[in-house]
Amino acid sequence: MAVLGDRAVAGLLSALAEAPDLSSAASYLLAQLVDVTGATRALMLRLDQAHETLGYVAAIGFEPEPSRLSIPLVDLSNPLVISTLAQLPIRGTSPLGFRSLEGVESWLLLPASQPRRRGSPETMSAQRATELIASATIQVLESVERRFGVAPAGIVLLEGDIRVDVVAELSGIMALADPVIARVAALDQAEELAEQLIQRRDRLTLMVDSLPDPVVITNAANDIIAQNYRAERLLHVRDDDSPGRRRAIELNNLLFTSFLSKAAMTGVQQSGPRELNLVDPDEGNDLLFEVLAHPLGERVGPEDAVLSVLRDVTDLRRAANELERQVQRVRQAEISVRGERDRLNLVLKNVADPILVTDERSNIILMNDQAEQLFQMPESEARSRRELTAVRGNDTKFTSFISEFALLDDDARRERMTLVYPRTGMELPVEVVSGKVKNERGEPIAIVSVLHDLTKQVENERLYDALKRFNSELENRIQEATADLAEQNARLQWQSQEVERANKLKSEFLASMSHELRTPINALIGYSSLLLDGVLGEVNPKQQDALSRGRAAAEHLLALINDILDLAKIEAGKMPLRLENVSLREVMLEVGQQIEPMVRKKQLEFVLDVDPDCPAIYSDRTKIKQVLLNLLSNAVKFTTKGHVTVETRCAPDGIRIDVLDTGIGIRPSDLEAIWEDFRQVDQSRTREFGGTGLGLSITRKLLERLGGRVMVKSTYGEGSTFSVFLPLRVTQNTAAEYGAESVTTVGD
Ligand code: ADP
Repeated sequence: MAVLGDRAVAGLLSALAEAPDLSSAASYLLAQLVDVTGATRALMLRLDQAHETLGYVAAIGFEPEPSRLSIPLVDLSNPLVISTLAQLPIRGTSPLGFRSLEGVESWLLLPASQPRRRGSPETMSAQRATELIASATIQVLESVERRFGVAPAGIVLLEGDIRVDVVAELSGIMALADPVIARVAALDQAEELAEQLIQRRDRLTLMVDSLPDPVVITNAANDIIAQNYRAERLLHVRDDDSPGRRRAIELNNLLFTSFLSKAAMTGVQQSGPRELNLVDPDEGNDLLFEVLAHPLGERVGPEDAVLSVLRDVTDLRRAANELERQVQRVRQAEISVRGERDRLNLVLKNVADPILVTDERSNIILMNDQAEQLFQMPESEARSRRELTAVRGNDTKFTSFISEFALLDDDARRERMTLVYPRTGMELPVEVVSGKVKNERGEPIAIVSVLHDLTKQVENERLYDALKRFNSELENRIQEATADLAEQNARLQWQSQEVERANKLKSEFLASMSHELRTPINALIGYSSLLLDGVLGEVNPKQQDALSRGRAAAEHLLALINDILDLAKIEAGKMPLRLENVSLREVMLEVGQQIEPMVRKKQLEFVLDVDPDCPAIYSDRTKIKQVLLNLLSNAVKFTTKGHVTVETRCAPDGIRIDVLDTGIGIRPSDLEAIWEDFRQVDQSRTREFGGTGLGLSITRKLLERLGGRVMVKSTYGEGSTFSVFLPLRVTQNTAAEYGAESVTTVGD
């Protein structure tokens, strides 16, 4: 019995062919099968394109639809998979093990097929299918004829107790429906694919259009076949474009085409990017592009096409140029900094003081050779324990000073410390002067320290202390000595007063004694003269000789006494001055007359040369006479031949009188001694010439009283010159100064 008549089958097939999609076609087929078999429910599953799973297509009677159902093809324990792969109907009366197919107890599986293609799954043998089932409640219906040239496509499940005798007929209907269903499925797939392609194309277009870089495809004639939005803005003229924009775009096309032809000629398309200059049609700026050209071959058209990506490198180039300039500037700065550093190093090397630079963490980052000697271990030589200790000690002292300084706000600091020379172990007192180096934000970045050698200063300080101590000791000693001296001084002063008193007493004594002596001597002289003159009777020659000698001795004694008397008077301050206007000429004549007999007796030439213009001087006449007589009598006395001359010359402040002789002269060694009391320099000669040895002494003292002085010049054996200076006027002061107790003024 046929479940479906030929007409019905033809109707079924045409309905299936007309179905809008697979789902509708499958549902229609299932509906027909349910209808003819009286099945309660029906389901169609189909292999996916990858032939990996059986997936839901349509169902009837299932609530809800098992639309999520998906059975992997590798699950060879599953009757649905076995029926599909073996292309054999299977019926069973046990649950199928899927939640969505719960309650399906009795069922029939009808395999669906499709034309065999490459990659279609292999058809499983009936024997293998039976082996795989191995269940009493499930039966592979091998009786059904298997078709060749087809491959598994899916499965239809019918629920219910379907009669075995209709299975062959149902399979026949399936065989007729399968190609139609397959065609509808293929159509569905194609539609789906087309949709996917459109979606993908849209996405790609969007992507390419959103690119900021122009992308262009050109053909062999360099005509643009395709371009993205950005390229269009540069290369494609639109109807509403302004004339300016048009011109810019035309220019761009020209530039681009010439670039492409040049690239084609030189064959650079493959060998990397080249630069292209275009104009921005909106802004009018120059734009620089880097063109990445990629030959597409014949993939997009009949001719060779080229894909060009234009990368806008305007800003990049500007940045690159700017960068280049910066690099140049940095390089320049680097050179000058290097120069600075070299100069600094030179300075550091040549500075005699150790210099160190430390960073903000007080680490030494730079030092000169001098500093290295203090803070660095000698590398080549073996390090002794002492050197190690010295270097460490120096480092600790210096670093603690620097760390302390770094914490302070001060910009500079100085401190004394004593370091040690590691090589010699000698101490080195130094003054550390440190200053902070700051960056532009005023933060300290380094500290520069210079160590001044204080060895000399310390030594000087030590010497200074010693000197101070010595000084104070000396002061004490001087104080003691001064005390002694003061005592001695007082004693001396007392002694000198005593001496002065004694001297005065002596002079007073002499003055009175001389007077007492003079009277009897005058009597002696007087009576001797009377006797010699024969007033008292005749005296014979022998008596005359004795009387003469006696008188001469008496006269000498008188002269001596007179001199002593004068000297004593002067010294006792009892020699009064009689001041008056004195004419020197007159005085000279008087003295000349007095000395004349002596000169004549010795047969000497006597010259008296007085300047007639000399004014009268205000002085003591008698004393001047006495001075001149003394000097003249000496001159005559010590001259045996030749002459005695007196010269008087005036000067603005006084008068000068020279007494010259051609006598015996005075030895240079005696020139001082002749002025002393009772001093006669040549005893043997003096006996010959006579004298008291007081004349010159009196002369000098008299002249002092008169405000004048006397000097001598002499050549031994040739003669002497005694020079007297007299002031024009003796002042009261001068007289008083030299102890004149009384001054008498005569006339004026
Ligand atoms: P006296 O009374 O012995 O001359 P003075 O005091 O007048 O004493 O002179 C001291 C000494 O100076 C003399 O003894 C003599 O040796 C020396 N004397 C003075 N005048 C002259 C002179 N014109 N020529 C050489 N010797 C002189």
